[in-house]
Amino acid sequence: MKTIGLIGGMSWESTTLYYQAINRHVSQRRGGLNSAPIHLVSLNFEDIAGRQRRGDWSGMADILSNTARDLQATGADCVLICTNTMHKVAPEVQAAVSVPLIHIADVTAEAILVRSLSRVGLLGTRFTMEEPFYIDALHRHGIDCVVPDEADRAEVHRIIFDELCRGICLDSSRRALQGICARLAERGAQGIVLACTELPMLIGSDDISLPLFDTTALHAAAAAEFSLA
Ligand code: GLU
Repeated sequence: MKTIGLIGGMSWESTTLYYQAINRHVSQRRGGLNSAPIHLVSLNFEDIAGRQRRGDWSGMADILSNTARDLQATGADCVLICTNTMHKVAPEVQAAVSVPLIHIADVTAEAILVRSLSRVGLLGTRFTMEEPFYIDALHRHGIDCVVPDEADRAEVHRIIFDELCRGICLDSSRRALQGICARLAERGAQGIVLACTELPMLIGSDDISLPLFDTTALHAAAAAEFSLA
């Protein structure tokens, strides 16, 4: 099997989901006691989140690029950035290594296209919902995004940073997300992209009527398939 390089810790709550999902996938496909060869570097999210608030994206590009180089040097055959938001610096990270960076938006777009959808609601951090890097990445695959209004964006961002990244899952926040998804559906969303790797801690396919795209699960499955190929 090929070795998977994970840049995690953003937050560690969702990196644990990657670790479980990749290994479960490999175990189901290979059987026995098989598990995935994984090299994980877990960054301190307090530092990264502070840089996000200050807008220090070049500093974060350097940190993630150096981490990707370290992963390649220690034998990783691919690199994953285990957060949607930090794909803002994906071009710099890919340029730092010769192994492939498995891009979370490309993997998600493939799953959306398999369902023949072309217009999806986007839930994530403010950076993911408001800046072009993620919306453009889906658009390159012919997929349009419907983004929540200002109040709903603020609420999704708050739930991610104040609750989910701290391991807190509240029924009231799940209901809030259900309301936001319903409003996105009214505006033409045919499916919902959980474009934040912590969101599946709170909401799943049973909670909403539209098709749901769990970027954590899709990204982890792509890594597992890369390893098995
Ligand atoms: N893990 C989240 C994401 O997928 C948010 C944390 C971050 O800002 O990186 O975007």
